[in-house]
Amino acid sequence: MLIVKKFGGTSVADKEKIFNVANRCAEDYKAGHDVIVVLSAMGKQTDYLLDLAREINPKAPKRELDMLLTTGEQTSVALMAMALHALGVPAISLNAFQVDMRTNSTYGNAKIKRIDTDRINRELEMRKVVIITGFQGVNRYEDYTTLGRGGSDTTAVAIASALHADKCEIYTDVDGVYTADPRIVADASKMSEITYDEMLELASLGAGVLHNRSVEMAKKYGVPLVVRSSLNNSEGTVVKEEVKMEKLAVRGVVSDKNTARISVIGLKDIPGVAFKLFNHLARYDINVDIILQSIGRDGTKDISFTVSKDNVDEAIEIIERHRTGSLQYQKIDVEKSVAKVSIVGAGMNTHAGVAAKMFEALYDVGVNIKMISTSEIRVTVLIDDEYVEKAVKAVHDKFALSEHH
Ligand code: ASP
Ligand code: MG
Repeated sequence: MLIVKKFGGTSVADKEKIFNVANRCAEDYKAGHDVIVVLSAMGKQTDYLLDLAREINPKAPKRELDMLLTTGEQTSVALMAMALHALGVPAISLNAFQVDMRTNSTYGNAKIKRIDTDRINRELEMRKVVIITGFQGVNRYEDYTTLGRGGSDTTAVAIASALHADKCEIYTDVDGVYTADPRIVADASKMSEITYDEMLELASLGAGVLHNRSVEMAKKYGVPLVVRSSLNNSEGTVVKEEVKMEKLAVRGVVSDKNTARISVIGLKDIPGVAFKLFNHLARYDINVDIILQSIGRDGTKDISFTVSKDNVDEAIEIIERHRTGSLQYQKIDVEKSVAKVSIVGAGMNTHAGVAAKMFEALYDVGVNIKMISTSEIRVTVLIDDEYVEKAVKAVHDKFALSEHH
């Protein structure tokens, strides 16, 4: 069996943890399996490197940032190979250059295009554990790129798919995917299975377990994922196409405080206004989330939407630049102390009244809803961020999520 095992930064944070991972890999290797290990940088190394860069130059060229950040993963793979050697297991570390893992040219947020499997296969044939740097790639200028924060998950899935691995295990410091953040809801329970679509919604909505591009890729190539803890042997959560629990309307509740609301007030009530507004933002890669447009009155309308907190200032700047040009509005109103609370479940579209039940839970605890957005398998509300914990608990309780898993 070919197994890809990915370990996050917390799982390789120090010598003891590195040996813990090495032992887990050695076990599979000794059982006769082919083992590929994908690693993140140790502990908070990536944050540390970013701080270092900021001290030198807050506007550091993105190419140089990637050059710097890739050293984090290079450190952890080399140390892991040394640990395996110390355990008497043949192993070799490879970086993105050595594998030949190609991405597009977008520094800091590159997308994987192609992975050469020759070198990896040759090393596996020589019965070595192959340890590969997560998060990095090489672009057509022969420069290093990185895949965006948390991108090692995506590396692991891409490798699992390129080599048709039998298993792709994502190890982290939690036991799997929970019905709510256990730090907020004490009796949140671990899901044994979840669909790609549900996981994708959860990952995009701020459940920090998996990089959302890794889930997208796993779905596209049908790579079954297992999310599990590197610290114990608990089974974890399997992410796949279809699951038995799907009949349950709601599977989990997530919240995200990294959001802000922008309202553009007094836009002209004519065709093309929404297009121009969101096109300006899209050109600067600013992702817009919940969108609400008021009905036209006296020839004007308002458009409200949410963006992540990191993008709010840039978004306002871009809109203001077009005030006297293509956008012609009266004023902008911004609210930063907001948060999203969402319920997710693949069975939701076949159950009536799911949204109403969520709104009732919020009403029960006196939480006002500012905006609402829905998809086939998700309902999201925007609320005051001070009520997030209260809201998540109330919704989790209302759907009795702890009892179903
Ligand atoms: N080390 C990178 C980060 O911290 C990539 C990863 O951990 O997946 O974002
Ligand atoms: Mg991660």
